Amino acid sequence: MSATDSDSPPVQPTAQDRNQAEARRVLNAACPFRCCAVCGLQITTCLQVAHLDQNAGNNVPDNLARLCPTHHWMYDAGLYPIEAIRLLQAHWQATKGVPDHKRMRPAGVKAARTRKRRTAARKAVATRQKNAEAPV
Ligand SMILES: [Zn+2]
Repeated sequence: MSATDSDSPPVQPTAQDRNQAEARRVLNAACPFRCCAVCGLQITTCLQVAHLDQNAGNNVPDNLARLCPTHHWMYDAGLYPIEAIRLLQAHWQATKGVPDHKRMRPAGVKAARTRKRRTAARKAVATRQKNAEAPV
């Protein structure tokens, strides 16, 4: 073993280990909706296959994620935990890129509460002004 071999990181894939075509085939079968797992970008020519454990020879579906170049770089830099990528990818596969508005809080309830508070506040201001103007 030469000095340069011992300096390289232990999980660097060798040329024999890396099989991007196999990784894409496995990921397409496991995750048919194609988008970046983080931002949802659906421009398929921009998407890259990321190996979540940094081992390019590990092509099991749980180890693969589709990421845009920016988020692939951010993941490799350690800015996203592996579980976040898996959860986001599962979310995109479930929603197919369509937002789920049923999970949002109904806006009508909050708006009605705001109207009620605003009416009470205006009534209180009017009462204070009336009391201030009234002779004692
Ligand atoms: Zn992205």
